[in-house]
Amino acid sequence: MILAENLAAIQQRIRAACGRVDREPNSITLLAVTKTHPPETIQAAADLGLLLFGENKVQEAKAKIPNCPGKARWHFIGHLQSNKCRDAVELFEMIQSVDSLALAQEINKRADAAAKTMRVLLEVNVAGEASKFGYQPEQMLAELKELNALPRLEIHGLMAIPPFTPVPEKSRPHFQMLRELKARAETVLGAPLPVLSMGMSDDFEVAIEEGSTMIRVGTALFGPRAMKGDL
Ligand SMILES: *Cc1c(COP(=O)(O)O)cnc(C)c1O
Repeated sequence: MILAENLAAIQQRIRAACGRVDREPNSITLLAVTKTHPPETIQAAADLGLLLFGENKVQEAKAKIPNCPGKARWHFIGHLQSNKCRDAVELFEMIQSVDSLALAQEINKRADAAAKTMRVLLEVNVAGEASKFGYQPEQMLAELKELNALPRLEIHGLMAIPPFTPVPEKSRPHFQMLRELKARAETVLGAPLPVLSMGMSDDFEVAIEEGSTMIRVGTALFGPRAMKGDL
């Protein structure tokens, strides 16, 4: 079965990358990105032991998640609009894409109404691309204490989507910058941030070499998407 083979190949790539930098393969969390894929695909992945999934659109997730195995856990990895925060808080165990204080405040408000604590990552625009969402690094550091003071939010770390390139090595400086930024954020907070979410199908080995703790993999697991999910 192709999914099983794809998963085995990814696990082999994870082990090889970890071997090069003396890291434990089980320190890397694999988030299976299921955008555009139907519940049957998620069921097949769950049968192979994958239980952590990523979606980038609230509407799509809202329709899909009720038809997926109840033991599946979901991370939101797309751009979140404030009018979708209530649904996002309900559907996801983590929102990886917090990129403004206003959005964080809205999530906090919705989490409070749902009597929940929401785990989040702060998304950083590592290359300063005008077309991309994400905090500018200095802005994130400047707002960090205020973000951390929101009672219904738990900041677990940072996430980034570097510019697309067919050459994985070109992502390395962006991954390095996110790792260094995490260290600065930890200094500001005086506490460790356990999660560095970086690396996708084509470049996750480089991300692991640079300290990623969570790779977000779609295409290498499930094959090409019929519809291109927007990043
Ligand atoms: C689609 C997507 C991924 C997965 O990309 P692949 O190249 O298919 O592995 C990872 N992260 C985010 C935020 C995405 O939107």
